[in-house]
Amino acid sequence: MADVPQDILSEIASLERLFTVDTEKLKEITEQFIDELHQGLKGEGNIPMNPTWVMNFPDGEETGSFLALDMGGTNLRVCEITLTDEKGEFDIVQSKYRMPEELKHGTAEELWDYTADCIEQFIEYHHEDERDNLDTIPLGFTFSYPATQEHIDNGVLQRWTKGWAVEGVEGEDVVPQLEKALKERNLPVTVAALINDTTGTLIASAYTDQSMRIGCIFGTGHNGAYLETCGNIPKLKHMNLPDDMHMVINCEYGAFNSKGQHPVLPKTQYDVMIDETSPRPGQQAYEKMTSGLYLGEIFRLAMLDLHDNKKILLADQDLKAFRTPFCLDASFLSFIEEDPFENLSETQDMLNDKYGIKAARPELELLRRLAELIGTRSARLCACGIAAICKMKGFDSCHVGADGSVFNKYPHFKQRNAKALREILDWQKGKKDPVVVSSSEDGSGVGAALIAALTVKRIKAGNK
Ligand code: BGC
Ligand code: MG
Repeated sequence: MADVPQDILSEIASLERLFTVDTEKLKEITEQFIDELHQGLKGEGNIPMNPTWVMNFPDGEETGSFLALDMGGTNLRVCEITLTDEKGEFDIVQSKYRMPEELKHGTAEELWDYTADCIEQFIEYHHEDERDNLDTIPLGFTFSYPATQEHIDNGVLQRWTKGWAVEGVEGEDVVPQLEKALKERNLPVTVAALINDTTGTLIASAYTDQSMRIGCIFGTGHNGAYLETCGNIPKLKHMNLPDDMHMVINCEYGAFNSKGQHPVLPKTQYDVMIDETSPRPGQQAYEKMTSGLYLGEIFRLAMLDLHDNKKILLADQDLKAFRTPFCLDASFLSFIEEDPFENLSETQDMLNDKYGIKAARPELELLRRLAELIGTRSARLCACGIAAICKMKGFDSCHVGADGSVFNKYPHFKQRNAKALREILDWQKGKKDPVVVSSSEDGSGVGAALIAALTVKRIKAGNK
């Protein structure tokens, strides 16, 4: 290996101290996490712990055709899912639409008009000629933001996350807003269920796996859902629901350790900057250190600090290509982490071709280490939410269904996350992993359709 100058070596060491979260710290975070989950169930603190009115798991006998609308953080997707007579089987057709950046900061009307236009396009494309004769199709709407629900088919947006700031939606029920736009286009669609992507992930995974207990998203945002019993949800007491009735809770635990809580998250100056310049300072503290939307930005801020202030990185180069906030996304880090360490030549070429930057070997090593540290911190911190639910519920062993770009695409995320889980849960060498996190079925599509199916079945049986 080429000689790395002393100043770079000591900078690497100091970044390691800054970004490394040891076992002890992970355990401390997990304990605080359990406390905040309990607060949420009482209607206190920052973690919403939203009741979803999804009250049972599918049994595999669900049938029928359903639409699913997936409004995540990045794309808009419309799917038609047919649950077939074959137990646990389904067919799916889908189209993806770009979510224009301006829409995320526009008005409610623009958002719903665009959304309804996409659904209209989908129906025209897949049901050419039969549009006017179609029976009404129930829609499962995956709305991946925190919403207060009094029924399965409504949802008042608590607050936008993931950098969205559409005017006129916070504090409003999103279902009538969408339905109005659908009606204006005479579309034969009714919203049967509004669900969160984590709930969809849990339900879609439970469809084929009896040991499934938790659904998680590690993507643009970060969150988890699990099945609770109503007796453990003090904030629902006034509804006199049977204590043993089940209810999926969408934790919205990206809000963990936000403003007002005993701070345990090991924030760096870069995390603080991201929070302070975000549209919602003080909110989603945990998500801002872990989810895909922020990983590239943490990297960018650290990189500029090493160049501008510490003057040990790319000293004679102009970093103007890195001056725009959020110009790097998590795939930038993935790319660097995937490059074989012996040469780091792909990273070198990419920096040169795309950003006009000539980096020397020691600088490439520094950048590589930085990416590893940020990616590892995310994966390790992500284990705390899962461990907290497992400990709170007393799950000795269970399966967790996970989805999202970070989980599916970020190199080593799964291994790093699994290792951290073992550390927190005191796993012993030679024993089976107590908690296994694996890729789930498409929760925002199939999960949404299943929940729509469960709802239609429940209404037919006379209960809402
Ligand atoms: C949202 C959650 C969502 C998560 C993953 C968070 O920002 O608040 O509702 O589940 O992102 O998409
Ligand atoms: Mg999604």
